[in-house]
Amino acid sequence: MSESTETIFNKIIRREIPADIVYEDDLAIAFKDIHPQAPVHILIIPKKPIKSLVQAQAEDINLMGHLLLTARRVALQAGLNNGYRVVINTDDDGGQTVNHIHLHLLGGRQMTWPPG
Ligand code: IMP
Repeated sequence: MSESTETIFNKIIRREIPADIVYEDDLAIAFKDIHPQAPVHILIIPKKPIKSLVQAQAEDINLMGHLLLTARRVALQAGLNNGYRVVINTDDDGGQTVNHIHLHLLGGRQMTWPPG
């Protein structure tokens, strides 16, 4: 994972590239993943450019809780009444490819375990 803090997700926040935004507030934005891995695949990100969960600090505790509850809100909005999965890929071994912390909300099919 590179160290750059300027990512495609910052460009989505600034509306410099298009995205299918499904929710936004002062702290967070949620948009459809461009390569969906499930019938519903939405990314929830903070507007604050935290690179990964490793870089989250104690001062981010409310923001991190807000992201989780935003995932819950978006799941309800998407009609995922039978369950869903929330994932945070973290750094290289976690398979993170965009250096801006994000929650994957996946639903609309039966998930399996373990993940790949
Ligand atoms: P990661 O692999 O956990 O870092 O997830 C990054 C996700 O961002 C992947 O699922 C990509 O498909 C998704 N992604 C990358 N670029 C865009 C975009 O421009 N719009 C929406 N999703 C994107």
